[in-house]
Amino acid sequence: MSFRATVLTLYPEMFPGHLGQSLAGRALERGDASIEAVNIRDYATDRHRSVDDTPAGGGAGMVLRPDILAAAIDAVSPGDDTRPRLLMSPRGLPLTQARVRALASGPGAVIVCGRFEGVDQRVIEARDLEEISIGDYVLSGGEPAALILLDAVIRVLPGVMGNAASGAHESFETGLLEHPHYTRPQEFEGRAIPPVLTSGNHQAVEAWRQAQSLELTRQRRPDLLDRASDQIAK
Ligand code: SAH
Repeated sequence: MSFRATVLTLYPEMFPGHLGQSLAGRALERGDASIEAVNIRDYATDRHRSVDDTPAGGGAGMVLRPDILAAAIDAVSPGDDTRPRLLMSPRGLPLTQARVRALASGPGAVIVCGRFEGVDQRVIEARDLEEISIGDYVLSGGEPAALILLDAVIRVLPGVMGNAASGAHESFETGLLEHPHYTRPQEFEGRAIPPVLTSGNHQAVEAWRQAQSLELTRQRRPDLLDRASDQIAK
């Protein structure tokens, strides 16, 4: 089964973007995943092909019209489509590795990219769009957010990462940040590789990595530790 993404956007030429390269590029070539970008403007109905209008209640900017967006969603995702419908949005729940894994184990996703001030609330409700944020900052459009989400999903699809084991210890997979990495040369500008890593003692290496991981998380992201202990408590 391959992961099928349909992206609704005003800028279809932004796709597949960087996902055409490297790891994701090869996955797309093999057909492990596909990304179809559809122009929302193709579903405009007036002469000027307009997709947005001024905000009800006044204020700056423009809002994507619900009727045009709904027509685009219905055209790419008919009633029997089981793929989740996502809206990239700074008001959404923050994207997590757990959500990425869940998406990757499903049939794909329909992803709506907002522009301007955002989209009319009624289409979010009427088409049951799940709002997903990639972080607490505001982008000018949903396209880079969709590319980031798809990057994270494609790299965890079965067979995409060369060494399957390399995913297991990574940041967030264990609920913690990952330990630091080292490679040759043995000494770099007077800094040596921590001796335990070259000791050949696998148990000691594992213990060192776990301790580093925990300490780094405690220093930088104590919120992750709170989340992990919540999960243990449940
Ligand atoms: N006025 C809105 C921001 C609109 S930004 C607000 O204050 O909430 C325009 C579009 O960029 C949004 O519709 C969304 O699709 C995208 N976007 C901006 N920031 C984002 C983020 N952090 N995560 C995901 N999408 C984002």
